[in-house]
Amino acid sequence: MNLDPMQKQVADDWLSEKARAGNCPVCSHEEWKIDGIFALPLMKPGKIQKNTFCPTVAIICTNCAYMRLFSAIDMGIPGFPHPDATKDT
Ligand SMILES: [Zn+2]
Repeated sequence: MNLDPMQKQVADDWLSEKARAGNCPVCSHEEWKIDGIFALPLMKPGKIQKNTFCPTVAIICTNCAYMRLFSAIDMGIPGFPHPDATKDT
């Protein structure tokens, strides 16, 4: 899934503050691009849990395509609220 403009801005800001610095560990290139949001299936021991996914923002090295993954929930990406924020108190 592509990020909408608001989601991309939040991801850009978060990455600039916390994770953008650094060269690619594979090719040492310095330029990264935000690719999109992927859903990683969550596991129980030995098997995938049904209908449980971790939304993940991928950024990719623009030279070698090495991919880094970050939790969309913990980044605060709109549309992926943190479970603790939706609990009734
Ligand atoms: Zn690279």
